[in-house]
Amino acid sequence: MLSILPFGLLWACAAPPPPAAPMPVHDVHSFARPDQVRVQHLDLDLTLDFDAHVARGRVTLMLERIDPDAPLVLDTDGLQIDCIEVDNASVPVLLGEEDPHLGRALTIHLPPGIDCVTIHYATAPTAEAMQWLAPEQTNGGTRPFLFTQGQAILTRSWIPLQDSPAVRCTWSAKITAPAGLVPVMSADVRSWDGPVGCFQMTKPVPSYLIALACGDLTSRDISPRCAIWAEPATIDRAAAEFADTESMIAACEELFGPYRWGRYDVLVLPPSFPFGGMENPCLTFATPTILAGDKSLVALIAHELAHSWSGNLVTNATWRDFWLNEGFTVYLENRIMEHVYGKDRSAMEIVLGVQGLREELATLPDADQRLHIDLAGRNPDDGMTQVPYEKGAAFLRRLEQVFGRARMDAFLRAWFDQHAFRSLTTADFLAFLDQELLRGDPQRAAQIDVPRWVEAGGLPGDAPVPDSALFAQVDAVVAALQGGAAPASLDTKGWVTQQWLRFLGELKDPSPEQLAALDQAFAFTRSGNSEILAKWLELAIDHGYRAVDRRLDLFLMTVGRRKFLTPLYQALLRAEDGKARATAIYTKARPRYHAVAQRTLDDLLGFHPAGK
Ligand SMILES: [Zn+2]
Repeated sequence: MLSILPFGLLWACAAPPPPAAPMPVHDVHSFARPDQVRVQHLDLDLTLDFDAHVARGRVTLMLERIDPDAPLVLDTDGLQIDCIEVDNASVPVLLGEEDPHLGRALTIHLPPGIDCVTIHYATAPTAEAMQWLAPEQTNGGTRPFLFTQGQAILTRSWIPLQDSPAVRCTWSAKITAPAGLVPVMSADVRSWDGPVGCFQMTKPVPSYLIALACGDLTSRDISPRCAIWAEPATIDRAAAEFADTESMIAACEELFGPYRWGRYDVLVLPPSFPFGGMENPCLTFATPTILAGDKSLVALIAHELAHSWSGNLVTNATWRDFWLNEGFTVYLENRIMEHVYGKDRSAMEIVLGVQGLREELATLPDADQRLHIDLAGRNPDDGMTQVPYEKGAAFLRRLEQVFGRARMDAFLRAWFDQHAFRSLTTADFLAFLDQELLRGDPQRAAQIDVPRWVEAGGLPGDAPVPDSALFAQVDAVVAALQGGAAPASLDTKGWVTQQWLRFLGELKDPSPEQLAALDQAFAFTRSGNSEILAKWLELAIDHGYRAVDRRLDLFLMTVGRRKFLTPLYQALLRAEDGKARATAIYTKARPRYHAVAQRTLDDLLGFHPAGK
């Protein structure tokens, strides 16, 4: 059961939490000056207008005045600010110049002793954090849907606040939706009265983790602290697919310490969600493209769950420290998968991850191959490559290899326990690593070149080389195929998704006829597994197997997950006549994609939408 509080109890302006220790971190992706005035709590009251694609209402910010003479500086992007109330009086709206990546600073001068500001505002229909879906873009097809995606710096397009991961605050919210729709948020306390939802996050979180979704939603409990949320048309499949979530939470607690967030729910979004998942606290947002029917893609849930420790509990203080969130999380994800599903499964996933990293490294400039990447003057999305994820995880696996698993686990546990609910930099990590592992064991410390891992490009020569016995079997089958064996004669009995991905990845220069024979034997074009299907479509585009074209069109028109879209559009661009095909499909599909996917694909295709 969900926690239900008497309606209205949340509404007294919540008492400010104990002050967080101010940290002098310079975040180049925020105008805010939290070293001078710091937001400690925000209280949101918004009404959702699905016709206008606008949220209207107010936010009240509770402040800590560190420098009593300094103004409050907030981040905004495209917001229409109607009025600002300070001490029961209206004050001028002072918006700075527009920055192409950062939006506009909002400066509010504060009289002495005042620690509360209320801003009345409306979001723009084009707010990048908010995706408003028409009924036909949902699974049920009858009701509209809204979800927000704050990471990295998009929360400022729906809430005026200090939009930096270095600033953590508690929050509460009242969301009024149209009748028949259910609002849900990434909060640890929730209650509903019809279409009005009240939410409270009692732990201090960074702004990018404030998330809202609203649609025709229902929930199914799978354990006392875990429920799956989805549209009614999806709930049965989703609940079955994620049935092991409670065992994953238990595995995490055994490995990395207590789960500190109360509930862990998963919300399955419509397919246009641009990511695999987003680790919004207490309520992971997930793409429906992982509903494979056989739990073969649930590593994504392990990943988002692991963020409850790495990312949400201990957070990157700036976006150049993003590897602290993602490298740790991929490492933890593999450990969870090993714990719940065994070593064979985690070994295959590590091999595929490192393979993907090596392929991407070959396409990136040296500066973008560094864990501690320089993102000054750039959109933080530019740093969201496989480098923070897979190279970060490889670095931690190397530490485990050198110091042994027992010491690595103690180190990780201490990292989370000693820094819970704090935002940290790469320098903080390096100091902690030195103190906990390196300094006390110079002999082992000499075996790993830490600055080379963190500050240089490429994958260091001492990176662990993963292998998988199950993949060796797949490679033997591929060799038989290349040697002339008929597809139908191949021994693929019992293969799981990862083995099929290896199989497709190892095919060398297949002809369209060979692809047709494989399709005949294994029905790849009809696959309901999005990972296998996307890999197959890419192979088909690259090798001229045009029988997939209708399926490709349908996939690109319905799925908005950037991980699949980018390689498929890249493959189209490599193909003969591909630019025209890619542009034709993209022109139709673009309105269905989220702003973050649009930005990536606009760049890739040289697409300049009208008005931009
Ligand atoms: Zn992640």
